[in-house]
Amino acid sequence: MRNKTASSIRNFTAAMLLAALVLVAAACGSGSGGKIVEGKTNVVTTFYPLYYLASEIGGDKVNAVNLVPAGVEPHDWSPKSQDLDLASKAQLFLYNGAGLEGWTDNFLKGLSKKSELVTAEMSKGITLIKGNPEEEHEEEEHEGEEHDDHGQSHDLDVDPHTWVSPKSIMKMAENVKNSLVEVDPANKASYEDNYAALHAKLEALDQQYQTELSKTAKKDIVTSHQAFGYLARDYGLRQTAVMGLSPDAEPRAQDLLQIAKFVKENDIRYIFFEELVSPTLANTLASEAKVDTMVLNPIEGLTPEQEKRGDDYITLMEANLQNLIKALQ
Ligand SMILES: [Zn+2]
Repeated sequence: MRNKTASSIRNFTAAMLLAALVLVAAACGSGSGGKIVEGKTNVVTTFYPLYYLASEIGGDKVNAVNLVPAGVEPHDWSPKSQDLDLASKAQLFLYNGAGLEGWTDNFLKGLSKKSELVTAEMSKGITLIKGNPEEEHEEEEHEGEEHDDHGQSHDLDVDPHTWVSPKSIMKMAENVKNSLVEVDPANKASYEDNYAALHAKLEALDQQYQTELSKTAKKDIVTSHQAFGYLARDYGLRQTAVMGLSPDAEPRAQDLLQIAKFVKENDIRYIFFEELVSPTLANTLASEAKVDTMVLNPIEGLTPEQEKRGDDYITLMEANLQNLIKALQ
């Protein structure tokens, strides 16, 4: 008995240590350390793709701070009081919208009256994809009570993953540029220049996607969470997702059997999984259907390793393209 207690205390301590280490790692990984910098335009972004756009277009005129730290899945994240403090002192708050950050309405209500924060929704102007057809109810453009619990319920009625397509993120880049010019018109020329350089890179990426994916024999991708709807729409692919629009929306057993059958019938060779979510389901499905797994990154955040390696939206999307080409031959 005593030994058992001692060992469970040891296990508990080990678990606590691990949890603490994870917290430290997460804190180190967040953007610029989460500080406001005087003399620059301070831009708070909700998650990595917006942080990337704000940093690229903002250049040395902007201090971009990302709220969701490296290695954390943005669907599961919610803000703390220090995040509100930080945002209150910033000039610009950029969020994706389209149902990704269910917490923004309440968060922004919590800002102090003195705050001059300008807020802007970066998915504006993109034709959004409706989420679950069976749960569809009349859309009420980001207002109304029933949208408040999205963070908990994960019943998304719109697909929020606009950034996972070079075509759609080009619109988001334009939105970021316009917001920066609005809050800091003095540096307009600098923002326009940086935007032009980024736009050229994104356009080249879009061209690669278009050329390569138009040549593939197959068009069906099986993914873990339903994050590739815009990519599929914009480049002529069809997506079958094991999980829903949010990675913790659990699949039903009959859905899994259906997908396994689909994989066999359509000669699918790879099931895609992603780094920020447990691969268990993708692995189970792949072994059930006797196929392999490969990464397709929804770029909702960087892992600490990717951050250290200097990976960014472009390099990760290039890696995605290589895996898509391999899977769709
Ligand atoms: Zn997602």
